[in-house]
Amino acid sequence: SSNKRKLIAGNWKMNGSLAFNEALVTGIHEGLARAIPQCDVAVCPPAPYLQQVRSLLEQGGAVELGAQDLSMHDSGAYTGEVSAAMLRDFAVRYVIVGHSERRSYHGETDTHVAIKVQKALAAGLTPIVCVGETLAQREAGLTEVAVKQQLAAVIHLNGHCISEIVVAYEPVWAIGTGRTASPEQAQEVHAVLRAQLRAASERADRIRILYGGSMNAANAAALLAQPDIDGGLIGGASLKVPDFLSIIAAAG
Ligand code: PEP
Repeated sequence: SSNKRKLIAGNWKMNGSLAFNEALVTGIHEGLARAIPQCDVAVCPPAPYLQQVRSLLEQGGAVELGAQDLSMHDSGAYTGEVSAAMLRDFAVRYVIVGHSERRSYHGETDTHVAIKVQKALAAGLTPIVCVGETLAQREAGLTEVAVKQQLAAVIHLNGHCISEIVVAYEPVWAIGTGRTASPEQAQEVHAVLRAQLRAASERADRIRILYGGSMNAANAAALLAQPDIDGGLIGGASLKVPDFLSIIAAAG
């Protein structure tokens, strides 16, 4: 793949505080000032902290801002939700869509995810679309079927616009478990997703397909060396400055 810049995105999930976020972003900036990253870097804090982190990022280097979710509606009576336009208002560049925690704890279906991708693209945000099989699906030999079905819904609704998305392959059994897909297991699925994207868009080769699921300082380099792995979506390790910096260095 790899003439495109890799993307390393930190998904902070429901972690952080004003003080924690400031220390984390300051630490990342200090590290990146010593070693200029050769990849794109983003952090995705919880929504209430977007303004704080935006202002911290403006003082520093080249780290971009992402959100963890968005509404599938434009505005109105949707208590608790945050729209694509609101994210744009705060200089958000990326938005994670369809994370497995949203799918499993909040009932997000493939259709919801496809609509959210459409809303993100229409607002000029880059959606990071998460797909991934459960352990039961993998053990039943249904990995390919599962991820293709998830991505197909997004392609069906968004057509050629999918050349503007980022995809994240996140096997559910690897998220937060310390159990990582091997580089070969990940590459196998990334190749399947790449073929599916190629069939839908002439510009599929520019789409970055990230791996996510217990990526850390020790395993990042081998995963990122695979031909169809164009970066990482990092949960736990993105909350620790040295670990996040090591993964960024591995992507350079
Ligand atoms: C994630 O939730 O996107 C993720 C990859 O988490 P972790 O790195 O903690 O497995």
